[in-house]
Amino acid sequence: MNRREHDLPISKTFTFRGRATVNQMAWKSKVASLGCILCRHLELGETPANLHHVRDGQGLSQRSVDWLVVPLCKEHHQGKTGVHGGKFYQHWKMDELDLLALTIQEMACKSH
Ligand SMILES: [Zn+2]
Ligand SMILES: [Zn+2]
Repeated sequence: MNRREHDLPISKTFTFRGRATVNQMAWKSKVASLGCILCRHLELGETPANLHHVRDGQGLSQRSVDWLVVPLCKEHHQGKTGVHGGKFYQHWKMDELDLLALTIQEMACKSH
């Protein structure tokens, strides 16, 4: 029986998280500097943004989801038409993973 392999992933995760902290912070501030990703997508220009953690509130935030951040303005974050507003998909026909994809796309373009 392979009991040892069962025990490994947990400590590995912790090591990974510890080492990732600095890069993670740099990533987060770069992502935030894009401005609201939805406003950008709607061509409303660069709106000051806060970071939304993808899958926030779904009990999965213990994983290394600090990398899965999306910049959103106040309205598109916590407003009625925001990701926490409950009707985000009905409004925009997008979900938070679409926003994450847009964010990654912008970041990839930005670094060139
Ligand atoms: Zn916005
Ligand atoms: Zn949020």
